[in-house]
Amino acid sequence: MKFDCIHGYVKRIDPESKQVWLEDRPVSYDKLLIASGATPNELAFPGLTDFLVFRDFMDAAKIKEQVSSSKRVLILGGGILGLELAGALNKLGIENIAIVQLTNFVGGPLLDQKAAEWLQEKIRGDGITLFLSDSLDHVEDHTAILKSGLTWKFELFVQSTGIRPQFPEIPGLKSGRGIQIGDQSQTNLPDIFAAGDCTEFYNPKLDRWMTTRIWLDGARQGRAAANAMAGNYLELNHPPFFNASFIYKERYAYIGEPHEADGENYVWKTKSAYRKIRVLDGKLAGALLIGNRHGMMAIYHAIGKTVQEKDLALASPDYKWNELTGADWDYLFY
Ligand SMILES: Cc1cc2nc3c(=O)[nH]c(=O)nc-3n(C[C@H](O)[C@H](O)[C@H](O)COP(=O)(O)OP(=O)(O)OC[C@H]3O[C@@H](n4cnc5c(N)ncnc54)[C@H](O)[C@@H]3O)c2cc1C
Repeated sequence: MKFDCIHGYVKRIDPESKQVWLEDRPVSYDKLLIASGATPNELAFPGLTDFLVFRDFMDAAKIKEQVSSSKRVLILGGGILGLELAGALNKLGIENIAIVQLTNFVGGPLLDQKAAEWLQEKIRGDGITLFLSDSLDHVEDHTAILKSGLTWKFELFVQSTGIRPQFPEIPGLKSGRGIQIGDQSQTNLPDIFAAGDCTEFYNPKLDRWMTTRIWLDGARQGRAAANAMAGNYLELNHPPFFNASFIYKERYAYIGEPHEADGENYVWKTKSAYRKIRVLDGKLAGALLIGNRHGMMAIYHAIGKTVQEKDLALASPDYKWNELTGADWDYLFY
């Protein structure tokens, strides 16, 4: 197998002639995978002229460089990335950090309100100011004037207000909140596939087009596309959702569907851990584990299995999920 790496920016794609147009020349293809990712939103506000975003290594490097001379940082957006940034800045010793969040709690939709309240206590405990149910109105001389009328003086302003898919101009390509892909990562155009943050996919179980924009789903889509392009069939199925990473400074795992309105919820919490288990019709439907992820792989494999207990023991780190799955999962990943 031979790979050529061509450095260049793709301006447009012509599916008729099967050519990808770089700035100065076309490149032909037989099969094409678009994996062009997403780009951060950059919202305009009166008076806001100088701000950074948080997407790639260069963004992180710029923030780190500027933060060494900044004592007051404002983060617009309290989603998972804004919180991760706040956690990193807090670890770097920045004392005056504020987060402005449109909704009345941070970290949604990964967190529900109760989990967010648990995390918010930690964030505030670290001296970080949270402006909830608020947004930026305008900026005057390095002072953010919020919709509520509250103000915050800053030296560094970082926007973390979500991402949008980016992909070159392609006549006839179907897209919504991303390039629409089918169960082999194929687009509506012949021999063109797409994977990762630039896509959206239809989930028949939930009956809606979805984007998840996480690494695991992007990799799964890429694998399905690679197989289809090589003439193999590997259906892009929809296993229970799984993501394990960091929120603020805490490890978390989000498994299945922990926050739907129906079913019963069991929450086990201490100062250092918040664990929620959701059971629907007697079966494990989802879990959110923060601070203590003990059993997360066993929980993932137990989704859909019948649980006997109907009490808080389900959410404790000691519950024997391995017995339900008949395997010892936790040595794999913690
Ligand atoms: C700060 C941060 C933390 C994250 N943490 C996690 C995590 O803990 N767990 C997790 O699962 N996910 C996480 N994610 C999400 C994860 O990084 C993305 O889902 C993943 O990187 C998407 O991969 P991708 O290949 O689709 O896109 P990208 O990684 O964005 O790659 C797309 C590439 O295409 C290039 N490109 C775009 N347009 C063109 C063009 N026209 N011509 C040529 N090249 C082009 C871009 O320059 C880029 O290099 C995080 C994301 C961020 C920003």
